[in-house]
Amino acid sequence: MKKIKSSGKIYDLAIIGAGPSGMMAGIIAAKNGASVVILEKNDKVGNKLRITGGGRCNITNATFDNRKFLDNFPEAKKFLFSPFSKFSAQDTFNFFESVGLDLVTEARNRVFPKSQKALDVVKALEKELKNNGVEIRTKSEVIDMRKTSCDNEEEDCSDGKREISSVILKSGEKILAKNFAIATGGMASPKTGSTGDGFRWLKKLGFKIKSPNPNIVPLKTDSKILHNISGTTWSFMRIKFIQDGKVKLKKLGKILFTHFGLSAPLILNSSFEVKKLLNQGRVFASIDLFPDTEENDLDKRILKLFEKNKNKKLKNILPELLQQKLSIAILEHYPKVFKDREVNSITKEERKDLVKLIKQIPMEITGTLGMDKAVIADGGALLEDIDFSSMASKKYSNLYLLGDILNINRPSGGYSLQMCWTTGFVAGEDIAKKIKKEK
Ligand SMILES: Cc1cc2nc3c(=O)[nH]c(=O)nc-3n(C[C@H](O)[C@H](O)[C@H](O)COP(=O)(O)OP(=O)(O)OC[C@H]3O[C@@H](n4cnc5c(N)ncnc54)[C@H](O)[C@@H]3O)c2cc1C
Repeated sequence: MKKIKSSGKIYDLAIIGAGPSGMMAGIIAAKNGASVVILEKNDKVGNKLRITGGGRCNITNATFDNRKFLDNFPEAKKFLFSPFSKFSAQDTFNFFESVGLDLVTEARNRVFPKSQKALDVVKALEKELKNNGVEIRTKSEVIDMRKTSCDNEEEDCSDGKREISSVILKSGEKILAKNFAIATGGMASPKTGSTGDGFRWLKKLGFKIKSPNPNIVPLKTDSKILHNISGTTWSFMRIKFIQDGKVKLKKLGKILFTHFGLSAPLILNSSFEVKKLLNQGRVFASIDLFPDTEENDLDKRILKLFEKNKNKKLKNILPELLQQKLSIAILEHYPKVFKDREVNSITKEERKDLVKLIKQIPMEITGTLGMDKAVIADGGALLEDIDFSSMASKKYSNLYLLGDILNINRPSGGYSLQMCWTTGFVAGEDIAKKIKKEK
């Protein structure tokens, strides 16, 4: 065990984690006069932020009516009205444009930096941190969080009266501060640094944590047909998720077939509901590749195709209707005899079976991929334990919880990062106000 030592300096705010929520809190607190240190275990800030939106960073969602925006946070909505009244999607636009980062709005209101580079978002935040005098300490892993002792019977150690006194770095250094913010993220994509350290400290401090589970995550299937067309996208299809013979969820849109199963935003955004179903029993899915064409009409289309190409092999003409890879995969796995048959030998019943197959590709959903492939993890610190007017915890008045550490479920589309900007802003502002009052 290394000897613990402190420089004796007491910061107004020590933030653990230089992700989006931590950096925003640091900028706002420092801009308003607080002395701030940000402690990051990686050798650079914003590791996860750099890979967001496929390297383009979907920074927020341009839904400027807070009510509509928060409809995407069904369980957390009631808690989030207060912080969003202080910092909304519109404020995110204003903030980033004020620091010289132009934004553009794309399909489904998703907002990206005009440069299309997530790295520019990181650079803008890092510059703002430096301009406002925030001390950025990378390669500074926090290993413990200490509270003020409550040995003295005279002390009031009830919830909200307790305080955090310091954090300990792996190097043995003790960091002292008047306020602390845990911005260590959730557990999704642990290679970026979010390995759940914050949850361990919170548990030790007496918080209840809803255990994290991969979310906004691709789905695994047992379907060989899909595994064989890995990398193929189909831009318009309908997927139905079925349990006990009943359709429980239907989605329409683009899908990406992968070697393990299914992906693309539509699937990622269904994963929360599908996981709930998986907890209750087996889940089957059926994909309709022609959702706006009735079975009869599709049959007529195929019949026309057959009539035009009577003497050709089915495998050579089906790509006129489906993509080459998809046609072959379908023909290889379902009525195997089809593939090398000439069209003129295919009976009406066999043709109808083929139509059925294209309208209802069957599969079982066998699970989801893990944390390494998840965009977020559901679970985290319980919202009842937070005062959302400040983002301070109710148990420790000088401990703030930000971003993915919170048990807030939401879809993809810029909602996660907006939640980080908002919670970071509210905490930064509250801490700066507190410090001003004390001075
Ligand atoms: C591949 C991918 C793409 C995504 N794309 C988008 C998108 O386009 N739009 C969107 O809205 N959301 C997106 N998200 C989600 C979004 O990135 C997260 O919601 C967000 O980064 C969470 O921010 P945070 O500040 O809570 O924590 P994080 O970004 O997870 O940062 C936490 C930081 O804390 C540090 N840390 C952890 N433990 C310690 C410790 N003990 N000591 C010191 N430092 C520590 C970590 O190293 C890390 O840098 C994406 C996520 C992934 C994985």
